[in-house]
Amino acid sequence: MPERDERRAYSHIRALMAETGEGMIAVSPDGTVRMVNEAGQKLLGLSRSECVGQPIAKLGVCGLGASLERSLSEHTSASSSCEHGGRDLSFTVTPYDDQGQWGAVVTVRDNTELIAVRRRSEAILMSTSDGLMVFDANDRITFVNPTAERILGKGAEALVGLVTDTWKVFGLAPDPEGTVAETGAQLREVRMEEPAHRIVDVRVDPVIDDSGTYLGAVTNMRDVTAEREAAQMKNEFVSTVSHELRTPLTSIKGYIDLILDGEAGEINEIQQEFLSIVKENSDRLVDLINDMLDISRIESGRIVLKVQPLDVAERIAGAVNTFRAVLDQQGREIHVDVPDDLPLAAGDPDRVGQVLINFISNAIKYSPQGGDVRVKASVEDSMVRVDITDEGIGIALEDQAKLFTKFYRVDSSLTREIGGTGLGLSICKSIIELLGGEVGVDSTAGEGSTFWFALPFASDRHVRTPSLETPLGSPGGRVLVVDDSEDVANLVATYLARRGYEVVKAFNAREAREYALELEPRVITLDVMLDEGAGFELLRELKGDPATKDIPVVVLSIICDQGKSERLGAAGYLEKPIDRDRLISLIDELVGSVVTPVVLVVDDDKDIVELLSITLKQRGYAVMAAFDGREAMAAVEHTKPHLILLDMRMPGMDGYEVLETLKGDSATSEIPVVIMSAFPLDREQADILELAAVCVSKPFSADQFVNLLESVIGDEGDR
Ligand code: ADP
Repeated sequence: MPERDERRAYSHIRALMAETGEGMIAVSPDGTVRMVNEAGQKLLGLSRSECVGQPIAKLGVCGLGASLERSLSEHTSASSSCEHGGRDLSFTVTPYDDQGQWGAVVTVRDNTELIAVRRRSEAILMSTSDGLMVFDANDRITFVNPTAERILGKGAEALVGLVTDTWKVFGLAPDPEGTVAETGAQLREVRMEEPAHRIVDVRVDPVIDDSGTYLGAVTNMRDVTAEREAAQMKNEFVSTVSHELRTPLTSIKGYIDLILDGEAGEINEIQQEFLSIVKENSDRLVDLINDMLDISRIESGRIVLKVQPLDVAERIAGAVNTFRAVLDQQGREIHVDVPDDLPLAAGDPDRVGQVLINFISNAIKYSPQGGDVRVKASVEDSMVRVDITDEGIGIALEDQAKLFTKFYRVDSSLTREIGGTGLGLSICKSIIELLGGEVGVDSTAGEGSTFWFALPFASDRHVRTPSLETPLGSPGGRVLVVDDSEDVANLVATYLARRGYEVVKAFNAREAREYALELEPRVITLDVMLDEGAGFELLRELKGDPATKDIPVVVLSIICDQGKSERLGAAGYLEKPIDRDRLISLIDELVGSVVTPVVLVVDDDKDIVELLSITLKQRGYAVMAAFDGREAMAAVEHTKPHLILLDMRMPGMDGYEVLETLKGDSATSEIPVVIMSAFPLDREQADILELAAVCVSKPFSADQFVNLLESVIGDEGDR
């Protein structure tokens, strides 16, 4: 009976072994094969009789004998893999207690196809021209392809296995919103200087399987240096050409107007007609050039937006007025519907005006059969929304999506007849989006359209703090690096040299003192632990000597002694290990702000600000540009300028208020202020005007003006 039971159990086992797709081999405690299933025979390419009773080491499978030995002696499972008979096989040896002795079961798996698929996918990933880096769910890098190695300047062996975040690999801070698992795709344009100058589009996507499980992330990097630089060149070209075209056009237009007005003698009807055509076309050319300039400014990121609290009702009234005469002539009406309690929006008044004019002029242009135009303002979702509705030709649904792209015009004989460039809406969309708003259209073909935009409400943070723009050609100049460790000094020197600074190194206090006097560096970096702590003494000396006291010193230290450093007159403090970006930005700032005089230009006329900024920067000044009084105050708070050029008539906080505030505060009362004014000055405010150093009246030539400034700054310096 027990024997029958045993036989039955045995046939169960054989049935089980036959059923499984895997190869199975039962091994006796003496290491010989006791049993092998069909799959096992097939995978090994051996018959049952060639296996059973044979020592496992004799089956000709590399590594299997050793795995078995290890498994039997250590009583743990062991695995191995090998190529056998043209297939990729893996073996798992699991020991079991066979009545006091240890036998084992070996499972054999055929991974040939799996491995082929993996090799194929790896080959694909390896040969894509984009850089790829793959992370597992625990943020560990598992794969890096050769393009990514090249972009990052690091081999896969240095990266695979690291637990990190994509942005850290690029030396950037992680996305403040969270990880890709939380935020979905993350995108950034990364500018790299190491191992080479490159602009790289980096995109990180979460990898999620069918069941929604997060498996990790994949980072895609595309080198777009050539494209971006070509785009920049194109933009610069367009911008230069447009500027050049504008000048002659201005006189063409001006003289045609004079002739049409009869200033050059009487003209007959035919001349009048022909000249009107010339005038119309030169107006179109001017519009086109302005659009091209706007596009190039937007695309190169050079567009300057004055975001400020904005009364949308006032802008609407202004824009509507421009069209009143035209509409009257055509016997059409424009209805304005603005609630009295419309909140202020955040926006640039000129640019929002431009958008309104564009939308209203389209509304008139694209309703050739007439009809009224409606402009309505309202509040929706914490935004100020403006709808411009016409009764014109309307737009088919399939065209609506493409309407806001560059050069897109609906293809119809009517549109062709009306004429245009297809640039206006794309500019409007960019402007509104740069202001944090939205644009859109609702329309039915043949039944008119409603174009709308919405802007966020104004808030205090809409006062822009102007940034410091350094003179052309900067950064540069000499930096003295003082450190007793040659390695650290070399590291700092390399960072700064790459940035364009000329670096001199000193390894002890004596050398440092000597070079500081002789070479007049623009900035000194100082390791305070120099000569066993003599660094502080050196700092005190440098700050005490009139010849060196104005050279800003940046303290680099491993101990937390920021307070002491600052008390002794250090201009900046960085803890070691040194963060390259912080070092560079600190030095740039010190070189830009301390050695170069800083001029704050305040005017609501952008052209004047742009002209003065360029001229001043060419002359080696650092410039801050503010477009109104509040921005000017924010700028002064940020960096105290050496001189302020102030326009008096500005919206919001005007020049008088700025001047009074500056002079009333002991921290800013010493800054000389030059008043620029195109209008007779307000005599009632004469006592305020007295506070200014000089007053110049517009128009003036930029060069003359800068000469005057130099004399003012010179005077102040002598005092
Ligand atoms: P342009 O008017 O110079 O062609 P826009 O960018 O302002 O350029 O407009 C792009 C296109 O959108 C126009 O060519 C026209 O086909 C369509 N469009 C714009 N506004 C309207 C409107 N109010 N009604 C119908 N079609 C319009």
